[in-house]
Amino acid sequence: MKITQLPQEFIDAQPILTKLEDAGFEAYFVGGSVRDTMLGKTIHDVDIASSAFPEEVKSLFHNTVDTGIQHGTVMVLDHGTGYEITTFRVESTYTDFRRPDHVTFVRSLEEDLKRRDFTINALAMRHDGEVLDLFDGLEDMKKGVIRAVGDAEKRFTEDALRMMRALRFSAQLGFNIEADTQKALVDLAPNLAKIAVERVRVEFEKLLLGSQASQSLELALRDHVMNYLPGPHIEDWSSIIDDLNKDQATNYTVAWAHILSRTQFDDKKRRQFMYDWKMSRNVMKTVNAIVPIVHNPKKSTVFDIYQVLAYQEELLEVLSLTGSQPETIQRISHIIEMLPITKAADLNISGGELIRSGILTPGPLLGRVLKKIEYAVVVGDILNDHDALEKFAKEYVNDQN
Ligand code: ATP
Ligand code: MG
Repeated sequence: MKITQLPQEFIDAQPILTKLEDAGFEAYFVGGSVRDTMLGKTIHDVDIASSAFPEEVKSLFHNTVDTGIQHGTVMVLDHGTGYEITTFRVESTYTDFRRPDHVTFVRSLEEDLKRRDFTINALAMRHDGEVLDLFDGLEDMKKGVIRAVGDAEKRFTEDALRMMRALRFSAQLGFNIEADTQKALVDLAPNLAKIAVERVRVEFEKLLLGSQASQSLELALRDHVMNYLPGPHIEDWSSIIDDLNKDQATNYTVAWAHILSRTQFDDKKRRQFMYDWKMSRNVMKTVNAIVPIVHNPKKSTVFDIYQVLAYQEELLEVLSLTGSQPETIQRISHIIEMLPITKAADLNISGGELIRSGILTPGPLLGRVLKKIEYAVVVGDILNDHDALEKFAKEYVNDQN
């Protein structure tokens, strides 16, 4: 099988492959970029596998970076683009269900393709577009199935993450998981609890953003995979799945905010969930800001909206995903548009000015007055006008005495 019209990304990288070949090595495009090209999808980055050992790659190219040399990966810089060249390798003895204890470099493409997770990910493509398909990946692609390379039980025992990957590819591609692979997934799902949360999270986030996320989540539920994922148990996935049937999240922060908006978790439990999933502080902040509003959008006040302004896009998206009424979404959009200020720094008065004009001295009262002013301006009680704000501050201070 030969691809005649190669995407530009491959054409740009062709000289790298031919240079390796001219030096007597084998070199192929491998992994996701080959799969996605065959599926007619756009590709992001191309990965190259070669029989050349890392030191050999480095001696052939002038500009290289050791991005993962212990695993056999060297990055070659070519006209501003970085290409990862990974030496053919085999992985041995997984004692902890996650990472190989060590990798061994080999000269055989077949050995390298054998250690790859699924047949659709085990295709290799020569520089001229000729595709090598040693494990019937093309046939599986046609059938729309995800099948482990070799014995699924063995492959999932080696690395439990592959189970999450099977589910995420099914979400991204809308593929079914082949029967033996599926059976192994059911049997070995408990091993998911043993792998690093960060790795599980990356795959789960890709799953959530897949165009067929709902289908994949249903599989995960049916096969009890959810029981082995981090965080307090979510009882009711059905509303989440229903939402995703209609639409999909555009980024993982929205995806998490959506999920947590659909649970009945209280504040503490929601925080625990995010902590257990080892989410970034940014995601946590966004989710914590959005969820209370999504739980009760009709009750949200102008000031509530003002306080989460930094997350307005995510908020509107989660409201839409959770099926909020158009009027509710419009009301919130309208509030956002009409806000007189977007942040405290927009106020036409500052703490320094209040001190200089003798109205206040540095201290807690000053902080309280500034908060009062901010609130009054946001909700429209006073105009954001210097004199008006100064008068407001004076009156407030007088009232306190
Ligand atoms: P994406 O388009 O999302 O990057 P990908 O298939 O390229 O998808 P990567 O995680 O970038 O996925 O991995 C590149 C390739 O490495 C895969 O296509 C697969 O051949 C192999 N691979 C990655 N992770 C594993 C794993 N845990 N076990 C076996 N092979 C793997
Ligand atoms: Mg990739």
